[in-house]
Amino acid sequence: MENLERELRARFGSRLKLNQPLAPHTSFRIGGPADLMLTVESEGELCAALDAAHRHRVPVFCLGGGTNVLVSDRGMRGLVLKLGPAFARIEIDGARIRAGGAAIFRALVLTAVEAGLTGLEFAEGIPGTVGGGLLMNAGAFGSEMSAAVATVRGVSRTGLSKTLRKDQLRFNYRHAALPEELVITAVEFALEPGDKAALRARVAELKAKRAARQPAGAPNAGSVFKNPPGLFAARLLEGCGLKNQRSGMAAFSERHANFIVNLGGAKAADVRTLIEKAQATVRAQTGVQLEPEVKLVGEW
Ligand SMILES: Cc1cc2nc3c(=O)[nH]c(=O)nc-3n(C[C@H](O)[C@H](O)[C@H](O)COP(=O)(O)OP(=O)(O)OC[C@H]3O[C@@H](n4cnc5c(N)ncnc54)[C@H](O)[C@@H]3O)c2cc1C
Repeated sequence: MENLERELRARFGSRLKLNQPLAPHTSFRIGGPADLMLTVESEGELCAALDAAHRHRVPVFCLGGGTNVLVSDRGMRGLVLKLGPAFARIEIDGARIRAGGAAIFRALVLTAVEAGLTGLEFAEGIPGTVGGGLLMNAGAFGSEMSAAVATVRGVSRTGLSKTLRKDQLRFNYRHAALPEELVITAVEFALEPGDKAALRARVAELKAKRAARQPAGAPNAGSVFKNPPGLFAARLLEGCGLKNQRSGMAAFSERHANFIVNLGGAKAADVRTLIEKAQATVRAQTGVQLEPEVKLVGEW
């Protein structure tokens, strides 16, 4: 670790942060410190940082918007990488849109709609970045990101850039299998021409649906559990009496049973206790094993 720190310090100077608290980088507002944290501003910098971490055998975690992670209270060992503003560009080329890995998902949806391109309206209201959305194969209202993806560009854990076609990737429910755990630097979407007024109306409709269902205000990370095949996690949780259940300052939302909210100062351990309690209760009462959608990361 010291050797990596020395090498990154020589190249990046004070941009390399030590013991950086991760809570402010997550939508849960929970999580201990990262040993090392670096925001890269170009693909060259990303390749160099990944290559150095690989040579020094230090684990790397790429953090996007932090809207689907629960970082442990002890934090993350190794290097946490973030993509800087240079990776947030969104460019339109006919019916194709190319978005950087750090582009805000919502900005991508709005760009597509205002360009009169259909295929991404479902994602209105999904927070986070394009890179995180791709890795999670983010979806809502019966559609998923994978349907609109044409190519993915990224950097391998050994520091090599590559571009992959959609048929070289495997997408599942809330998961994309990327070769060599690529850090995604850009995604190209193939969309279809659509009627701008109709697209705007659809986005407004989905926005209203979300506002009616989801808790507002308290920090959270969206749905905690994946929907089991043919079932809804929220209904199972509500049916098993988990709504409003609390551990420390974390609680299942009274608005949406599949959301855990941070009531103020919640610990990762509180959230994990609720997750495990819900899994045990639902398993005992229904025989269904709930699988977390939120990624538990760091040192537990
Ligand atoms: C209020 C709320 C509502 C939500 N609604 C939805 C919804 O409707 N549908 C849905 O699917 N999700 C939803 N989510 C969850 C979350 O927003 C999505 O999963 C989102 O796509 C995660 O993106 P992120 O950038 O925040 O990723 P992060 O949380 O930062 O990371 C998630 C995973 O992606 C990886 N990752 C991030 N960036 C990159 C990159 N550039 N390259 C490689 N790997 C990367 C991380 O290592 C991690 O494994 C919601 C969350 C909230 C808080």
